Amino acid sequence: MNSIATSYSFGLFIDGEWQETEQTLNVWNKYNQSKVGETAVSTAADVNKAVAAAKQAQGTPFSLYDRYEVLLKVAQLLRDHVEEFAEIIAKEVGKPINEARGEVGRSALTLENSAEEAKRIHGEEIPVEAAPGSENRKAFTRRYPVGVVAAITPFNVPLNLVCHKVGPAIAAGNSVVLKPAEETPLSALLLTKLFEEAGLPKGRLNVLTGEGREVGPLLTANQEINMFTFTGSPQVGEQIRREAGLRDTALELGNNSATIVHNDADVNQAAQLVAQKSFNNAGQVCISVQRVYVHRDVYEVFMEKVKEATSRIKLGDPLDSATQMGPMIAEEEAIRVEKWVNEAVAEGAVVETGGKREGVFYHPTVLSHVHADMKVCRQEVFGPVVAVQPYTNEDEVISLVNDSEYGLQAGLFTNNLALAMYAADRIHVGGLIINDTSGYRVDHMPYGGVKKSGTGKEGPRYAIEEMTEEKIVVFNL
Ligand code: NAD
Repeated sequence: MNSIATSYSFGLFIDGEWQETEQTLNVWNKYNQSKVGETAVSTAADVNKAVAAAKQAQGTPFSLYDRYEVLLKVAQLLRDHVEEFAEIIAKEVGKPINEARGEVGRSALTLENSAEEAKRIHGEEIPVEAAPGSENRKAFTRRYPVGVVAAITPFNVPLNLVCHKVGPAIAAGNSVVLKPAEETPLSALLLTKLFEEAGLPKGRLNVLTGEGREVGPLLTANQEINMFTFTGSPQVGEQIRREAGLRDTALELGNNSATIVHNDADVNQAAQLVAQKSFNNAGQVCISVQRVYVHRDVYEVFMEKVKEATSRIKLGDPLDSATQMGPMIAEEEAIRVEKWVNEAVAEGAVVETGGKREGVFYHPTVLSHVHADMKVCRQEVFGPVVAVQPYTNEDEVISLVNDSEYGLQAGLFTNNLALAMYAADRIHVGGLIINDTSGYRVDHMPYGGVKKSGTGKEGPRYAIEEMTEEKIVVFNL
């Protein structure tokens, strides 16, 4: 299989053309700090040109079937180039190669599902004739694209989270201006090459690179953008919402995800899954397990098993297929996590395993004797740290889980159906996963949080709803 790119030096992609810029930004290998590639830096003029191209493309027909075909073709091309994508993700993120391969496979599924959903965009009949005086009327709704969608994505899942925005936006008939994360833009730029190869009409996808704090405000200032879809930190999400004003905004933000292990659960399964889902991508996952509440009856057994499974995690070069956990995105992030753990220890927490930094690596860490107001519990760690606390009864643990500004997903290990339903009705999150951790997700399920975790849902069908406007058509017959 030929590689898609011969060099990883990319311009901006505007109106179907690659465009060089005066300034460039380097992209580094997060494991050994060598240069992996280079991207362009967008100016205000580039942003305006990309948005104008996106708007103009809205005037050119692009049938539902053609959207379906282009998205399927890109999914197939992704499957044909799994290794090239996986390698670039492993380098730019520091994600272990096996996890990176998994991300590429999921990205293809996200695009396939977006293609399928393109054929199912529909409204409904509304029985307006049921109102007195409206006996002679009929009505139905239809969905229309919002127009120009600006998509801004984070560093941690740089391909699949781009597919979660670009796939549904294109399926719904919108044009996209994409701004990938500056730390990890290369996989998104490679994907853009596949859209080009698949024959996406020009202007339907434009890609702007550069520092988010500079390009972001240029995007929000452009009033031709109809909608912002953002995944990233709550601080930036709030800023985008303020600047977007009355325009539609979908926000997928952070979490300090909780998982409960009840006394009737399979403790071994719970411990293995917690050890696995707390340290994927070095804990830099929005639904990474961070707070674990274990019933006192099984606390000791759980702690032994989770410590044992965690201490076996193999750190190393992300390109080595034996590696289970790679570096964090930057050394300053590893230093921040180190400080938060040290602060927790100073306040009484005990390091059961890990608790050590080596450069850009932070060892997988399990803490006990924590309390709710420590940063490692209260804030989003976004690193390989899990804080375990015992509990005595169901209502106590539900209020501990809900004692958070966030509410993306939570997990509950129990074999008691009544407890599972009781918790489902009371835990305030976007998704509750029974007999697995908060970290479970498949790409076609509705996914999104409550409280500070955001507004709006992803998963192609749900994102298409966010990215279309519903109009009612009423007939007076
Ligand atoms: P970030 O907020 O720093 O950056 C996200 C994106 O926003 C990047 O493309 C960045 O360039 C851009 N950006 C930065 N400043 C901007 C500005 N002023 N205006 C517009 N755009 C700007 O987040 P990150 O560090 O890349 O990602 C980590 C965060 O993402 C965590 O909080 C994590 O929980 C969250 N996240 C959430 C989900 C979810 O689905 N809920 C998924 C993945 C990550």
